[in-house]
Amino acid sequence: MNIVAIGAHQDDIEVSCLGTLILYRELHDASITHVTISTGELGGQAHPDLPLSEIAAIRSSEAQAVAGALGARYVCLDQPDMYVRDTDLARDRLTEVLREARADLVLAPPPVDYHLDHVAVSQLAFHATLAASHRSLARGRQPLPRTPALYYVDTVAGLGWEPSVYVDITPVFARKCELLALHSSQMEATREVGGWDLVRYVEIENGFRGLQSGVAYAEAFTPARAWPRLHAGPTDALVMPR
Ligand SMILES: [Zn+2]
Repeated sequence: MNIVAIGAHQDDIEVSCLGTLILYRELHDASITHVTISTGELGGQAHPDLPLSEIAAIRSSEAQAVAGALGARYVCLDQPDMYVRDTDLARDRLTEVLREARADLVLAPPPVDYHLDHVAVSQLAFHATLAASHRSLARGRQPLPRTPALYYVDTVAGLGWEPSVYVDITPVFARKCELLALHSSQMEATREVGGWDLVRYVEIENGFRGLQSGVAYAEAFTPARAWPRLHAGPTDALVMPR
């Protein structure tokens, strides 16, 4: 099984679905690609005097460290932070990434969220999942034989979103926190801005979704209810390897 997880910023995938990705690696030896659409150069709120290029480099190295520890590939599409756009070029580049990864399952931000970068990335993923299997869209790589299943991750703070699929990440929650903490710059930035850090954040959000679903910690998803991105599976969890 090949999974492509897409985020607007360097820590988005880790916060929203890293536990599920760890489980897919450990239980199913899934091949995983992390795609970040922006360079994340505005993520230096703890040190606003740092040059943006330096912040982007720090965040890239943090994202690559997590991907490396997971055994995943890391790709960045280099759009400007806070100004991510659903452009033709971005659609084509993401389509190519999905084709190259031979994606079966795509995890992406939900179509409503607190940040317009997340909303734009959701739209990009919605387009690219269909385009990647479209035989008349001739690009560099072979079209996928089937449109990947598309699942939206949770919104930030779970606001305005009603997930329908819950994954019990309790067995790997400590590992998720350990890898999440590799985003040192964002651990510091969230402490500075919000008074909490990323690990505290997932303790609350994953604990809350766990409370809803009868486990200690859960990540929550919603399948895109749009043909042909909705796949029937043998279980009520995310699409499993066949
Ligand atoms: Zn983000």
